[in-house]
Amino acid sequence: HRHLGRADAARVRAAIEADETHPEPIDWQRLDAYRCEGGFELLQACHDGEVTVEALMEAMQQANLRGLGGAGFPTFKKWYFVRQEAGPRYCAINADEGEPGTFKDRYYLERAPHRFLEGALVSAWAVEAEALYIYLRDEYPGLHAVLHEAIAELEAAGLVAPGYIVMRRGAGAYICGEESAMIESLEGKPGKPRHRPPFVAQKGLFDRPTLVNNVETVYWIPLIWQRGAEAFSSQGRHGRVGLRSFSVSGRVKRPGVYLAPAGITLNELIEEHCGGMVEGHRLAAYLPGGASGGILPASKADIPLDFDTLQEHGCFIGSAAVMVLSDQDDLRAVATNLLAFFADESCGQCTPCRVGTEKMLTLLEGDEWDAETLTRLSQVMMDASICGLGQAAPNPVLGLLKDFRGELAAQNVIVKG
Ligand code: SF4
Repeated sequence: HRHLGRADAARVRAAIEADETHPEPIDWQRLDAYRCEGGFELLQACHDGEVTVEALMEAMQQANLRGLGGAGFPTFKKWYFVRQEAGPRYCAINADEGEPGTFKDRYYLERAPHRFLEGALVSAWAVEAEALYIYLRDEYPGLHAVLHEAIAELEAAGLVAPGYIVMRRGAGAYICGEESAMIESLEGKPGKPRHRPPFVAQKGLFDRPTLVNNVETVYWIPLIWQRGAEAFSSQGRHGRVGLRSFSVSGRVKRPGVYLAPAGITLNELIEEHCGGMVEGHRLAAYLPGGASGGILPASKADIPLDFDTLQEHGCFIGSAAVMVLSDQDDLRAVATNLLAFFADESCGQCTPCRVGTEKMLTLLEGDEWDAETLTRLSQVMMDASICGLGQAAPNPVLGLLKDFRGELAAQNVIVKG
């Protein structure tokens, strides 16, 4: 079987059941400790009428807080659009974190679940949500326990009404990270993306206006309020504004989550945060935005990494999952692996994606790649797929055709056309 799916899925499932992902209990910050550093003062002030929604929206705008799940949409505007719609409304937090190479949400949830919960509750308050749903991926079993316990602490302290926060488990589908598929899944249906419009801000969970935010986005809200918007908007590099949490993996000495200025380049990230490349490896390529954000050559490691800066190179930063590849990596295997992943994870409801990913995999077999056919197929997938999965699936192949012909030739792949 060409796909990676079954054997790996069985292995991952066995690891989850044995809870090998968390051999040690997670040492997370309890409610008392969080309150000692000013935790839940913002939520309290919101409920007591000492902070207005307008003031909060202005602070988020000044801080330039954007959707950190990958879309980068300004947070205050999202609140504004949902508030325009008639109630009842809902708030749903996307904790599915399924983009390969992304682990920043897990990093924050494992350390400071109460700061995340305060941010989520403030977001829900900002749109007067009837309930707050948290959709957590099932591959984070340790975090299920942490969040359940943290929510129980909040309820016992009277900081949230019992039952207001509803936890829901994902079931391992990558596509459920797409917000409308997540909403379908929250409603108990198969996670298939919806056509838009209407947008989820208009017609989301149970057909009601719904605010969907990523974990990290809401995590920053209490900190921005405490420290002031300026503390965030004064950060940034190469003309970009703010901070980004990069999940760095691959051939670097110290992989991990690094909070770095928005607009930092890959070269700077590797040198300043990751301790350089692993001994004996030379930077050859990198994926700036997980599986879907495309692939760039080492010669483009000086581009500012941020929303809107990579489009002209056919890439995007998404959730800032940076995967570093070296001269010892097989680029054809990388492309095939990514396409096999998309083919496995396609929800199957539209033909360009369902058939296109499979077709592209067959076109990558053998030692001759037909550039014209691959490019035309990519165009159909990008133009006609319903959601981002099918639209982004050809990115790695297009990137290789554009920037890596020499490397492919060295790996015995002849590109025709
Ligand atoms: Fe489903 Fe793929 Fe179509 Fe998205 S693009 S709706 S994942 S078949």
